[in-house]
Amino acid sequence: MKDRVYNFAAGPSMLADEVLKELDEEFYNYRSSGMSVMEMSHRGKDYLEIFADAKARLSSILEVPEDYEIFFMHGGATGQFAAVPLNLLKGKSADYIITGNFSKKAAQEAEKYGTVHIAYDGKEKDYAHIPNQEEIRLNEDSIYVHLCSNNTIYGTEWKDYPEVKGKTLIADMSSDILSRRINVRDFGLIYAGAQKNIGIAGIAVVIVSRKLIEEADPMTPQILSYQLMEKHDSMLNTPPTYPIYVLGKVLKWIEDLGGIDAIEKRNREKAKLLYDYLDGQSFYRPHAEKESRSLMNVTFRTGSEELDSLFVKEAARQGLISLKGHRLVGGIRASIYNAMPKEGVATLVAFMDRFAKENS
Ligand code: PMP
Repeated sequence: MKDRVYNFAAGPSMLADEVLKELDEEFYNYRSSGMSVMEMSHRGKDYLEIFADAKARLSSILEVPEDYEIFFMHGGATGQFAAVPLNLLKGKSADYIITGNFSKKAAQEAEKYGTVHIAYDGKEKDYAHIPNQEEIRLNEDSIYVHLCSNNTIYGTEWKDYPEVKGKTLIADMSSDILSRRINVRDFGLIYAGAQKNIGIAGIAVVIVSRKLIEEADPMTPQILSYQLMEKHDSMLNTPPTYPIYVLGKVLKWIEDLGGIDAIEKRNREKAKLLYDYLDGQSFYRPHAEKESRSLMNVTFRTGSEELDSLFVKEAARQGLISLKGHRLVGGIRASIYNAMPKEGVATLVAFMDRFAKENS
């Protein structure tokens, strides 16, 4: 790790050393094919193996049921803000639970294609809170309920998902996919941009029940159509070949670590290090309510904008980079996704303690 920094960026974010080394080894001449993966035909034998391998690993790690499909799509998570309503709304209404910036963006996009009912909006609580069941008002006529499982900017995360009374639950898991165990069956559809927890920018992973695909609107623009994704196994056009290859490497790395339970254990230990420290001092003020805290994005501030910015600058000098909070909220944010090692978090905590003593 000598010549590498600890990168706390919210996304794109760090990749594990093991993954980078493997990518490096295979970069110029992939397994004696005489070419790089970037140069391969997406329909060639070598690439089809890479593609099938990534899909199979994702299916196995997340225990994706038989009656669900996995798609690798263009357009990141933002593409899915449109794809979900375009495929599923069909002029009807849906419930959106707003717990932060991205769930709001998803709702705004959906409003173009149907009626959106806001079942909860955490704005008054400065998005420091994840609602409990009583705070959520579902609409009788809605055909699905959309939420964002982890709020990257505010640092909050759902611990348990709400009861949606037989409706289809849809989740944007961009910033916590594969960070902890989930039951895929609790959701009709899950989507995530890959560039935080499972790879690099360029793809959205979509896991969707076959029932929803069957019901999807065939008039959806081709590139966002779940029916066409299924028909062409995500190869309606040239897929984002390199990001899918990197995804496969990240998934293999997770398997080598021991799978989803091992990665969850590691993530809980990392987050505990940071939250235990925050709870035992008074210099920094955590943003999220205790019960709503994210395992992935830890948000806090010193109470002074000057000190926040000095913190970010001095941390960078010590090789702890990208700790500045999102431009919408300011403050400090440490994104500690799957690839961040425990030592990175321990180094950050030691720096925080030193900084607090020097600036109290
Ligand atoms: N949802 C969440 C929770 C995110 O954190 C982000 C990106 N920060 C997005 C959606 C948008 O993702 P993309 O840039 O892949 O469109």
